[in-house]
Amino acid sequence: MGLDEDALDYHRDDPPGKIEISTTKPTNTQRDLSLAYSPGVAAPCREIRDDAEQAYTYTTKGNMVGVVSNGSAVLGLGDIGPQASKPVMEGKGVLFKRFADIDVFDIELDHEDPEAMITSIKAMEPTFGGINLEDIKAPECFEIESRLREEMDIPVFHDDQHGTAIISGAALLNAVDISGKDISDLDIVFSGAGASAIATARFYVSLGADKDRITMCDSGGIITQKRAEAGDVNEFKQEFATDRPEGGLADAMEGADVFVGLSVGGIVDEEMVRSMAEDPIIFAMANPDPEIDYETAKAARDDTVIMATGRSDYPNQVNNVLGFPFIFRGALDARATEINEEMKVAAAEALADLSRQDVPDAVVKAYGDDPLQFGPDYIIPKPLDPRVLFEVAPAVAEAAMESGAARGELDLEAYTERLEA
Ligand code: NAP
Ligand code: MG
Repeated sequence: MGLDEDALDYHRDDPPGKIEISTTKPTNTQRDLSLAYSPGVAAPCREIRDDAEQAYTYTTKGNMVGVVSNGSAVLGLGDIGPQASKPVMEGKGVLFKRFADIDVFDIELDHEDPEAMITSIKAMEPTFGGINLEDIKAPECFEIESRLREEMDIPVFHDDQHGTAIISGAALLNAVDISGKDISDLDIVFSGAGASAIATARFYVSLGADKDRITMCDSGGIITQKRAEAGDVNEFKQEFATDRPEGGLADAMEGADVFVGLSVGGIVDEEMVRSMAEDPIIFAMANPDPEIDYETAKAARDDTVIMATGRSDYPNQVNNVLGFPFIFRGALDARATEINEEMKVAAAEALADLSRQDVPDAVVKAYGDDPLQFGPDYIIPKPLDPRVLFEVAPAVAEAAMESGAARGELDLEAYTERLEA
């Protein structure tokens, strides 16, 4: 395959890999070196010893994110282990740098045990302003993240969970608006009950969805109270167990307003789409092949089908790169101790708002001149739209300050201007 060969060449080209570390201060003279290292370096050490927060003033901490994985659930590749996951983690670093000028150390840990992951990551707190957990399998990922969030004083964010939740959440806010429905009245069906589906269902509740109107399906069908009582599903799935009768995905989708696919490709057919409520919202996000493809879903009905997928070759791509760089930018700049629900909701609302604004010509051109105008085929911004940074990062920083998660106080107007410069 052409893409595979090109990707191997891209990574193999000297120097191997795709990132390096560079210095930011002069290193030309003896004096420069005695400032950068001993004896001068003792002065910032003493400042930080006396006040730990000075690490944000004298070191890279405030612009440094650890992308941490054990390689247990990598892209569509599955459990390929930490070493084989390194190109992905380095790639995540490339995206952080390209989209938000954030520096990343990629950390691949040879641990299967969640407890070992927790201990290792917790010990890294002095190095980083934030931790992006990546490609760690469910259900272990839930415990690892929630324990680290409790035990660490810097943001810990498992992107595979919350990235999808936030970006598809922005899409949902706009889809609901276009279809004239109310978010609290939606019957929502999830296909998938893994890392991304559980987090996304929780987040939709934060956005105003009614938890009692969510039906979640895994590979065994609808997750019912009966299955929960029989001990057939883990505690995270139990959270969404419904008292409706047992059945499969097709039963669940009958009359539903929203379908959220975070499972596997090709499991939804036209008949199932036709059985949904008027003007259905279909987010078929399995990668690389969605639960149902764009054309088939659109053609299945005469009313408006609002469709999103994970693919870049169709409208409304739910792409995590719309979230994590900017969410961490705002969190780091506010010196946040966490990325809390308020900050995530602020990010989703900022993305939703941005899609309603006129799109600059340069962005339209970058996407091959398709008209980009708020409507069923444009409910989330495009990743290469530079305005995403100026809108999302300040919104997250503001929410951090308002919710008490910020250590710092930012002048938001000056901050936004600084980002735009
Ligand atoms: P995961 O933790 O492995 O979860 C996968 C879930 O799919 C499991 O709950 C599994 O059921 C369920 N499943 C498998 N076959 C099914 C079937 N026939 N019917 C219903 N459910 C079925 O994976 P994940 O990280 O959440 O990712 C899930 C999918 O979403 C992947 O395709 C991923 O690429 C995609 N995704 C896309 C985006 C994006 O577009 N931005 C972001 C994140 C994830 P069991 O629990 O019974 O095994
Ligand atoms: Mg990932």
